[in-house]
Formats: sequence, C-alpha cells, structure tokens
Amino acid sequence: MTVHPLYPHLFTPLDLGFTTLKNRILMGSMHTGIEEEKGELRRLAAYFAARARGGTGLMVTGGIAPNRQGWLAPFRAKLTSGSEVKKHRVVTAAVHDEDGKICLQILHAGRYAMHPLLVAPSSLRSPISPFRPWEMSPRLIRATIADFGRTAALAREAGYDGVEIMGSEGYLINQFIAPRTNKRRDDWGGAFENRIRFPLEIMRAVREKAGPDFIVIFRISMLDLVDDGSTWDEVVALAQALEKAGASIINTGIGWHEARVPTIATMVPRGAYTWVSKRLKPLIGIPLITTNRINTPETAEAILAAGDADMVSMARPLLADPDFARKAFEKRADEINTCIACNQACLDQIFANKTASCLVNPRACKETILPAQPAQTSNFKLQTSNLPIAVVGAGPAGLSCATELAALGLEVHLFDASGAIGGQFNMAKKIPGKEEFAETLRYFGRLIEKTGVHLHLNTPVTAEALIAGGFREVVLATGIVPRTPAIEGIDHPKVLSYIDVLQHDTPVGEKVAIIGAGGIGFDVAAFLTTPETVYASPIAAYLHEWGVDESYQNRGGLMKPAHAKSPRQVWLLQRSKGKVGERLGKTTGWAHRLTLKNRGVQSWNEVQYHKIDDAGLHLTVKGEPKLLDVDHVIICAGQEPQRALQLPLEQAGIRVRLIGGAKLATELDAKRAIAEGLEVATHIFD
Ligand code: FAD
Ligand code: NAP
Ligand code: SF4
Repeated sequence: MTVHPLYPHLFTPLDLGFTTLKNRILMGSMHTGIEEEKGELRRLAAYFAARARGGTGLMVTGGIAPNRQGWLAPFRAKLTSGSEVKKHRVVTAAVHDEDGKICLQILHAGRYAMHPLLVAPSSLRSPISPFRPWEMSPRLIRATIADFGRTAALAREAGYDGVEIMGSEGYLINQFIAPRTNKRRDDWGGAFENRIRFPLEIMRAVREKAGPDFIVIFRISMLDLVDDGSTWDEVVALAQALEKAGASIINTGIGWHEARVPTIATMVPRGAYTWVSKRLKPLIGIPLITTNRINTPETAEAILAAGDADMVSMARPLLADPDFARKAFEKRADEINTCIACNQACLDQIFANKTASCLVNPRACKETILPAQPAQTSNFKLQTSNLPIAVVGAGPAGLSCATELAALGLEVHLFDASGAIGGQFNMAKKIPGKEEFAETLRYFGRLIEKTGVHLHLNTPVTAEALIAGGFREVVLATGIVPRTPAIEGIDHPKVLSYIDVLQHDTPVGEKVAIIGAGGIGFDVAAFLTTPETVYASPIAAYLHEWGVDESYQNRGGLMKPAHAKSPRQVWLLQRSKGKVGERLGKTTGWAHRLTLKNRGVQSWNEVQYHKIDDAGLHLTVKGEPKLLDVDHVIICAGQEPQRALQLPLEQAGIRVRLIGGAKLATELDAKRAIAEGLEVATHIFD
C-alpha cells in the first residue's frame, strides 16, 4: 500500500472486516429535498454518483423514515415497502458503478415532526415545532423498533452497503436517551439503563435483520447542548453498549436542533468539536467518526494524524465540491471549492421546504439539469465563434460567469477596477467569523489560472474602451452602489458608509449608530463590537462565548457563557416595524441576533431619521423624539444597481447581459450572483 505524501491518514483505507472503505472521508447525512422526487430517484442517483466519482470513501443519505409517524414533515421519504426498494436501487447502482459505497440513514423525527401524527417518549412539545407529540405506548415502542429493523433489511435489499441509525440531534432516539424529553416511569424511562433500552434494541434489531456483513453506523449525541441532556459518563456507556450490540462505526452528533448554540455556522471555528470525539476514542474499540466544521483536507488530516478519530465526516463540503476527495488525492487541494458554512443555499432552503443547493456550487442537487461538463451542445457554435467576451466586474457574479465561459473554451477578458478579485466578498471576509469567504476567492483565483481567463485588474472599464476593444458580447457584473438616504446632514463628517469602514479601514469612534439593519448592518455591528480576545485559540473563544463546557461538568455540556465587553456602544436601526434582523438566514439569523444582544447592541425598529449634526443623530423611535449622541453614523441602507455602461454599449450594437447586483440590487446575495453567472455562461449562445 502506498502512503499518500500529503494526507497519509486521510487516504489510508479503513478495514471493517467484511468490507474496506477506500479512504477516511465520509459524506455525512444531509437532507436535500431530492429524496422526495416522484418516480425513480434519478436526481438523487446523479447527485450521489458525482460524489462517488469524486472519490468519497463512504456516503450517507439524508434521513429516511422507518414509518409514517417518523416523517419529519408530511410525505417525506420513507423506506417501508418493496416499491420503495425499487426506487432506491437506482441510487445504489449509480453509486456502485462509480466504485462508491453508500449507507441509508434511518431517521425517526419523534417530537421534531412537523405533522400532527408525531410521537415521542413523553408528551412534551419541542420549542421548535408547533405540535405536541403523542406519548408512545410500550406496544408502539416495540413496533417502532421492528420498523427500524425492517427498514435496514429493505435497505440491504435495495443495494445499500449499510445504514446509519440517527440517534442524535434531538430526534426520537435522542429523546428517549435524555431525561429532558423522557419522563416515562415504565421500562423505557427513568434510570439510564431504561432510557437507553430503545437505542440498544434498535441496534440489535437492525443488526439481526440486516446481517453481520452490513455497515451499521450509530450516530450518538456526544454533546446535547441543552439542559437535562446526557452526562459524559452516559455518552461513554451508551457508545460501549452499542459496540457490544453490534455497531460497526460510531458517528459523532453535536447539539440538538433546539440548542441555542451555533454548531455548524460560519462563526464556528474549524474542527471546534473534535475534542468531544477525542475523549471517546480511547474508550471504544470500533471506528469513530468526528464531525462539524471540517472543510479542508488539511484540517481533516490533522485530526486523523492526532488520533482524535478514525474518519472525518463532511456533509456540506461535499455539496460544495463533489470532487473534494479526488482533488485532495491528486494534490490539487487549491482547486477545491470550499464550503464557507453560510447555510444560505443548503440548510436555509431545506428549512424553508425547498430543495437544497450550494451558494458556491449552484450545480449541487441539479446534476441532471446542470452537468459538470460544460454544455457540449454549444460545440459547433464554439468552433465558429472566435470573438472575445468581456466580463466587467470580478465580484462573485463576474467570477462565476468568466470562469464558466473560459471552461467552455471561449476567450474571456475579466476586468475589475480594483486591485483584487472578489468585489464585496473582500469586505465580507473581514467580518469576524466570516473569514471562510476568502476561500471562495482563492478558489476562483485558481480557476482563473486554470481556465485561462484573461484577468485585467486595476482597470476601470468604460463603454468606449469596450467598443474600441472589439467586444461584441459583454457581461456586466459591475455590482452595486451603496444607497445614500436623503437625511438632512448626510454629508456631515460623522457620516461614514460601510465601505469606508470595511474597505478603507476608516477609524470609528466609541459610540456608533448604524442606519439600516440588513445583512450588512448586522455584519458592521458585529465587526465594531468584536471584543479583544483573551483566549488562547479561536476554538476556546467560541466555546466560552457560547457556553460550551469542554470539562463536561453538567448534563448536556453547557456552562454559563462568558460575554467579553464590546469596545463600542452601538445602536442598530431600521424604519420598518418587524423584529430587527428577522430577514436574516433561517438557520443562522438567531445566532447573529443573539451575538449582538450579548454584546449590548441596542436594536431599534420603527425609527424615523431627521437630522445628523455635531450633536449626533436626531430621530424618533415609535413616535418618541430622541438624540443619539454618537461619534459616527454608519450608513448600511441597502444598495442600488450599477449599470451605467449598459445603455452606451447597447446603443453601439453590443449585446449586453446583466448579472448579480448590476441586474438587480434588491435581495441580492452571493447565492444569486454566482448562480446568475453560471446561468448566463451556459446560455451564452441562446
Ligand atoms: P460585487 O461583489 O459588488 O462586484 C462588482 C465588481 O465590479 C467590483 O469588484 C467592482 O470593482 C467592479 N466594477 C464595477 N464597475 C466597474 C467598472 N466600470 N470597471 C471595472 N470594474 C468594475 N452575500 C451573501 O450571500 N452572504 C453573505 O454572508 C454576505 N455577506 C456580506 C457582507 C458584507 C460586509 C458585504 C459588503 C456583502 C455581503 N454579501 C453577502 C453580499 C455579496 O457580497 C454580494 O451580494 C455579491 O458580492 C454581489 O456580487 P456581484 O458580483 O454582483 O457584485
Ligand atoms: P438589505 O438587507 O436590503 O438592508 C438594507 C437596510 O437598510 C434595511 O434594514 C432597510 O430597513 C434599510 N433601508 C433601506 N432603504 C433605506 C433608506 N432609504 N433610508 C434608511 N434606511 C433604509 O441590504 P444590505 O444590508 O445592504 O445587504 C445587501 C445584500 O447583501 C442583502 O440583500 C443581503 O442578502 C446580502 N448580505 C447577506 C448577508 C448574510 O448573512 N446572508 C450578510 C450581508 C449581506 P428599513 O427600510 O426598515 O429602514
Ligand atoms: Fe456550504 Fe454555504 Fe454551500 Fe451550504 S450553501 S454547502 S454552507 S457553501
């Protein structure tokens, strides 16, 4: 066996006795919405086949229910019958054709279900669901255990290499284990031995029904991050009992969905939860998977090299780049399209009942619609077209468009007025906790070299220059200009724009009012209130800020959060009535709001701005006049499209296409900008 020169641990096969995984990369379970496709699961098959082709060692499907009560929402995917087995064979065959391996995750939602048939060990409503669950009778408990066994047997029949039993994140099994949700007084509740009876019986039933030569991963909640969760000793005892009951692999689960600790968002440092797996590793004899915010081969290798786990789970990073493993193996890690943990196109979509994709990879979950290979149908036109194309603006939209066009074989010239690619991402990456955004710029930088885009930085483009350059096709990706609200005194020296603060590093005083509480207003507030760190590492700072106790003194692993003092007093203001920050991302907005609250930021709605002068900002709040005696007023009042070049170019007979902010500034984000770049590139000859 040859040892990989860069990632020797990551690319060491894992021998499970009856089967061998080719490397230590697990694509963790992630519900994408394409599991519910009508008819044959062709789209799901293409999605997993792409990741198998990309060299992933083992993949786990999104959660599939063992019965109707276990559905997360009405008519979600389940595996309970022969007709469903047939649909899944398409998926497993596609994966095996690409020399991959795949497990089906069996998930029973318990009290997290979004339908009225929901059941749980006790009739306690969860804080994140509208329905109170029915308490399960002992008979129903037995039947549910049998359902897990039946689904495992059907998974085997469908060609899966194994199953993962979802025992974490606060779903049904976890609800039995933790005293928080299990208030029963019979054989299934009370003492620890009773609370873990349900997972152990499920484990035994699955092993019995699926046979000895079948991978059974059990995902346990190693850190509940809720009050009255498990103790560390209970976690260890459960893992050891599961090993005895026949589990092949233990996977790490971190935090219940109702926990008020962000565990995978971009503000969570890389590898922030490896310490939990590391504690368990010496105490069990079967392979252990670690997880959460591992998104580069370097991080994964370091974890494995330190002996903290046997395998590394990455779900979103493989959504972002299906070829992650292959690129790392071929020593092309700089070509990996890194997941920036934004949740915008994956989890936020899922929680809004939409199909997932990826902000940095709009092809994710659309493999049958947008194949990875450039549109071959354009070949004839490509051969006959030797005209260069200009893309003006190297922000996310322009980068995506230019690199796609160049990959099609076209001569592409990408212009930007500034000295670096990235547009507004150069400001985003400066926000503490958003450093990952720099990875997208590294990726596109490499892609520019690889695809041969002609990059012209420090080049503010005019219509005349494009006409003189002989361009007949121009893509305008010129982004936005910040909106300047018509407030008396808007020219006062106290007034700064977010660009002054984030791009030009203009010094900011100690008392600050921010006009506009959209995504940028929140980011500027976070930027201005980030305390000086007193901790040895970003992981230690994060764990203290959110009250995660590495010493695991209490049930659930929580401790009192330590809020360091903000260096500034900040008011975040909006005119409209709703909650400040209510339009932020569904799965991350609460964490951004809580961060600012903990730093003492005053968030005010129903504000009217009157005047800015030497005294400060004059305003009314819910009809009450106030004066904010601030050093600076920072304008984050939205954006307007910048497309001054459009008209003169069109008048000169040049075909112009608009993408990103240049097309529409309202509700613009990088997800839309990157997707539009790809869309225009793939239809360039239409
Ligand atoms: P831009 O990024 O604005 O790029 C336009 C480019 O065109 C610029 O580089 C500019 O120099 C160039 N240009 C303009 N005119 C010319 C010309 N005449 N000649 C040459 N070059 C020209 N979005 C998210 O989705 N998630 C986030 O978390 C997020 N956080 C953000 C945080 C901050 C602080 C900021 C400021 C933005 C954030 N955004 C975020 C928004 C995101 O960055 C934008 O939606 C995205 O950058 C828009 O892309 P674009 O390519 O349309 O325009
Ligand atoms: P935004 O989200 O549209 O917010 C603009 C803010 O300005 C709103 O609070 C709005 O609230 C206020 N406003 C609008 N017109 C105003 C006026 N004339 N006078 C005073 N206030 C006014 O825009 P943004 O914050 O500039 O962000 C730009 C884009 O970047 C957004 O679409 C966002 O999606 C994206 N972004 C996303 C994130 C993220 O984390 N996902 C982070 C940063 C940016 P009122 O009208 O109520 O006053
Ligand atoms: Fe990662 Fe964001 Fe893509 Fe989700 S949408 S996979 S978090 S980059």
